[in-house]
Amino acid sequence: MAIDPVCKMEVDPETAPAKTVYQGQTYYFCAPGCKVAFEKDPEKYLREAEKVEEHSAR
Ligand SMILES: [Zn+2]
Repeated sequence: MAIDPVCKMEVDPETAPAKTVYQGQTYYFCAPGCKVAFEKDPEKYLREAEKVEEHSAR
């Protein structure tokens, strides 16, 4: 399962309705709207995703 970086939902890459490649990484989205939001400001969502990982590692 992949994580939608915008809304943090789990998305199955096989059936994801939207995906994008950013800096060589493929990101999957639960809906086209999430992809649009990500592409407007990818850095914001990637920073938030890193924060979440740091917290859950503790
Ligand atoms: Zn989403």
